[in-house]
Amino acid sequence: MVLCRQLGLLAGGVVALDGSRFKAVNTRDRNFTPAAVRRRIEQIEASIARYLAALDTADRQEDEVAHVRKVRIAERLDALRMRMRELQAMETLVEAAPDRQISLTDPDARAMATRGKGTGMVGYNVQAVVDTEHHLIVAHEVTNVGHDRTQLAHMSRQGQVATGHEALSVLADRGYFSGEEILACDQAGIAVTLPKPLTSGAKAEGRFGKQDFVYEAEADTYRCPAGEQLPYRYTNVEGGLTLRRYWTTACHGCALKARCTPAKERRVTRWEHEAVLEAVQRRLDADPHAMRTRRQTVEHVFGTLKGWMGATHFRTRRLKNVATEMSLQVLAYNLKRVLAILGVEPLLTTLWA
Ligand code: SF4
Repeated sequence: MVLCRQLGLLAGGVVALDGSRFKAVNTRDRNFTPAAVRRRIEQIEASIARYLAALDTADRQEDEVAHVRKVRIAERLDALRMRMRELQAMETLVEAAPDRQISLTDPDARAMATRGKGTGMVGYNVQAVVDTEHHLIVAHEVTNVGHDRTQLAHMSRQGQVATGHEALSVLADRGYFSGEEILACDQAGIAVTLPKPLTSGAKAEGRFGKQDFVYEAEADTYRCPAGEQLPYRYTNVEGGLTLRRYWTTACHGCALKARCTPAKERRVTRWEHEAVLEAVQRRLDADPHAMRTRRQTVEHVFGTLKGWMGATHFRTRRLKNVATEMSLQVLAYNLKRVLAILGVEPLLTTLWA
């Protein structure tokens, strides 16, 4: 990255952050979570019930064929009962595991949801910070945490150090949205742009969402869709967050109340650092192509890496080894990118200079 900086390849100051799931050397059959063990136990219970019914039928027949069938069913039942004992033992182990999950082939690999329809995989979550101009990977990390919610601040800081841009701009998707993470970026001078997850219950039920209420900073009030002012009422702490509450007493006579709230009055909650989240939304509104840029940047990188690594992705086991394997892939990727951008001669000239 130092060389890339010297060559001026990281001058843009804008990066995209994304995570992608990479398959580990561990099939889904050799990964156990409480739900997966329960599901397999239920399948075996159903199979045992089916074989017992078949045994009953065979018992009522006296011929040689029925005798052979009974022997075969008894063997099958033995095998199923043995599998059931193994699963019951595994159920106890899974419950006792720190994160209630066990992978037998690669103990560090974890079951992870992927973006495909209802598909999951056992693998690792590869985080990458990618320069939007030249698609160079400026920072990366392999984790076995299946979500991105806690990655925004520390990956963005790595991007900040690698690019040398104090005021780095980071584009991310809604999976990274976390008030605390966005605040940590803001405090580090990093401007993040990402959409808010669509979790408003009111909006889902066809009522006004919080975005329909406009905050008026000078008066410290919200203006509602009916034009009423919702003054500040009180502050409380919930889940470690300091939250300010606003409402008006005008709701009971409001013509829009049915579209607003089923309660006595509509209350609006404001996090003490909400201004940071509002700035994120303003950046998103100001750059309608931000999410397309983000997608195109990271898709190129992850698509290339996965193409190189083949269908099963990692060849090594354990987080430490997998992280090294990924570092080598990233190094190869960046070298090829720089060669493609500059050509061999200029790169060699810079290296020997
Ligand atoms: S119900 Fe209350 S908050 Fe909602 S639009 Fe009417 S006055 Fe405003």
